[in-house]
Amino acid sequence: MDSKQTPASSRQVRCPQCGALTVYSTSNPWRPFCSERCKSIDFGAWASESYRVEAKPEPTDFDDAQALDLSGGQASKPH
Ligand SMILES: [Zn+2]
Repeated sequence: MDSKQTPASSRQVRCPQCGALTVYSTSNPWRPFCSERCKSIDFGAWASESYRVEAKPEPTDFDDAQALDLSGGQASKPH
């Protein structure tokens, strides 16, 4: 309950990914994130987003064919 326990050097910020309080200093290699996980999640989202721009839209015909094949194979039950 004493604010004197927190030195001014260890500044705390909210992790942009999960919102948890994390120390923003050189001791935290994942700053401003709280952990490696949050940092990689953010980077992954950014990477996949940029991928989407360059990637071509997938044909829906392939999806339909796969769905039909799956339902057809599951219909027959071995005795
Ligand atoms: Zn986090």
